Amino acid sequence: MDLKLIMAVIEALPKVQMIKNYSNSFVVEFDKHCILIDAGMDKKAKEILEAIEKVGKNPKAVLITHGHLDHINGLAKLKEEYPDLVVVSSEEDKNAVEGKEILLPKGFKGFLYKFLSVFMKYKGVKVDKNLRDGEIFEKIKAIETSGHTKGSLSFLLRTDNKNILFAGDLVINKENKLSLAPEEFNFDKNQIFKSLKKISEIRLDCMLPGHGEAVKEKVNEKIRDLFSP
Ligand SMILES: [Zn+2]
Repeated sequence: MDLKLIMAVIEALPKVQMIKNYSNSFVVEFDKHCILIDAGMDKKAKEILEAIEKVGKNPKAVLITHGHLDHINGLAKLKEEYPDLVVVSSEEDKNAVEGKEILLPKGFKGFLYKFLSVFMKYKGVKVDKNLRDGEIFEKIKAIETSGHTKGSLSFLLRTDNKNILFAGDLVINKENKLSLAPEEFNFDKNQIFKSLKKISEIRLDCMLPGHGEAVKEKVNEKIRDLFSP
């Protein structure tokens, strides 16, 4: 993964702001409020708060794709700024979000991350709601796509007849090439392939991964290429 911080708010789609800061977070705009997807790496959640301000609507909830630190580290700050923010995750990754467990990569990186996590001092945040496969929350449908972590979720948004999938780290898209996250970060590769097959059956116009760029063309074809021989 690219360690360079890309601090920019870019327009992904008319109603979706994509915030790139090591990992991607998103602000989804509705008529009277907005919904956040993932809380990013930055403990101060600076870019996310700026994007919310730009949208000009109060965030109602933050939907967490999975419990890796680079997707939840900004949570405490978001909650501090917006105390009524509803925190949503899967049941399986709940302990990580609440700071009761650290999801570490395999091998040496796991050792290194465990060491670094002492300094990160992740402040867990209470999960208010768990979503299951197929459940719809604020017009966004949760899809269980486990494999990267045990409880990874993807979120499906339908806007202007377009299907947009927030895929978390099920895939990454760097330099216009779709791939899996690095092996040491994946909990169960076989399960990832099952999850990829599952989402390839949904017609997707756009896929927004947790790292890298939006996939806007031939989305289903590119997903199928990942698990087909
Ligand atoms: Zn991850």
